[in-house]
Amino acid sequence: MNLRIPGPTPCPEPVLKAMSKQMINHRGPEFKGILERTAERLKHFFQTRNDVFVLTCSGTGGMEAAIVNTLSPGDGVLATTNGAFGDRFAEIVEAFGAKVQRLQFEWGKPVEPEAVQKALQADPSIKAVLITHNETSTGITNDLAAIASVVKRAGKLVIVDAISSLGSLDLQSDAWGCDVVVTGSQKGFMSPPGLAMVSFGDQAWAAHKQAKMPRYNWDFTKYKSFQARWETPWTPAVTGVYALNTAMDMMMKEGLPQIFARHARVASVAREGVQSLGLSLFGDLNYASNVITAVRATDGLDPKKLLAVLETEYDVIVAGGQSKLDGKIFRIGHLGWVNEKDIEDLIKVLKVALPKAGYKKV
Ligand SMILES: *Cc1c(COP(=O)(O)O)cnc(C)c1O
Repeated sequence: MNLRIPGPTPCPEPVLKAMSKQMINHRGPEFKGILERTAERLKHFFQTRNDVFVLTCSGTGGMEAAIVNTLSPGDGVLATTNGAFGDRFAEIVEAFGAKVQRLQFEWGKPVEPEAVQKALQADPSIKAVLITHNETSTGITNDLAAIASVVKRAGKLVIVDAISSLGSLDLQSDAWGCDVVVTGSQKGFMSPPGLAMVSFGDQAWAAHKQAKMPRYNWDFTKYKSFQARWETPWTPAVTGVYALNTAMDMMMKEGLPQIFARHARVASVAREGVQSLGLSLFGDLNYASNVITAVRATDGLDPKKLLAVLETEYDVIVAGGQSKLDGKIFRIGHLGWVNEKDIEDLIKVLKVALPKAGYKKV
């Protein structure tokens, strides 16, 4: 099977093997060593000196942890959104009683730093700004450095959903002033789903001391005191941590700049490939993501039919559109364990599969 969705992504053989190891005591010396190695090496990928916690949950749990550890009910929050995941972040803060102002941009367009600056000037009561680094639903990478810089100048908290970007796209947490950054195991980290990783900086700790949102499972006071002796407060997904560590071995060996460059190359193969078939890309090309390519369904193409044909006849899985883009686009995930040849092969398959899904141009 050729899994080309934006998570879960395929796991390399050594990662799969690591997961078949026997369980060990999660409070014993061996696991402490593994957790230390995991948390310390994650800092390298987050490009941070801040604490990084490993949570047993999917990425969304990490987003919730970021919120409940920094905010109180009634706090003003500016939620920037240009897609389904930005909307999800806004819904989470709303569910915990924050006063949310949504700063919405058209799907396929980037979040504009100037608009963020204006919104912050207009409402000084805002405490935190939520930013989706890579909006997976539309294939747009926001200019996180520019947005975070505007937010930091206003002295507000920068809380980032980097679930589909971290480990694949450059994200300089400390240099760009990101106070809280959330990612997950099953995308760029080419590991199975089940872990969220969250970095937490000084300004976030200061906010944490005042934060009154209800929390128990995600209480970072507990995480910090347990992490001081390389434990987690509750039993972690031991197998997931084995896998993540093995994946990081491979990623460290390749090197961060090389990983970013590979994703850029693979993305151009995807973009040029679909355009060579007469298809057009969805969204603002200046912000086209290097981890996912969103393609418009034009010229008779039925994207749902395409997904079915690809799966049943070619054993290839791509993603459809989410929410308001359902039936309008399809998406090719190219993050984590992927190279140019994988996507060249996919383009060849698309060439024969597209006409079977109504497409008239190829
Ligand atoms: C995948 C994704 C999520 C959700 O992650 P889960 O692990 O499914 O909870 C959130 N935000 C973005 C940008 C994503 O790509």
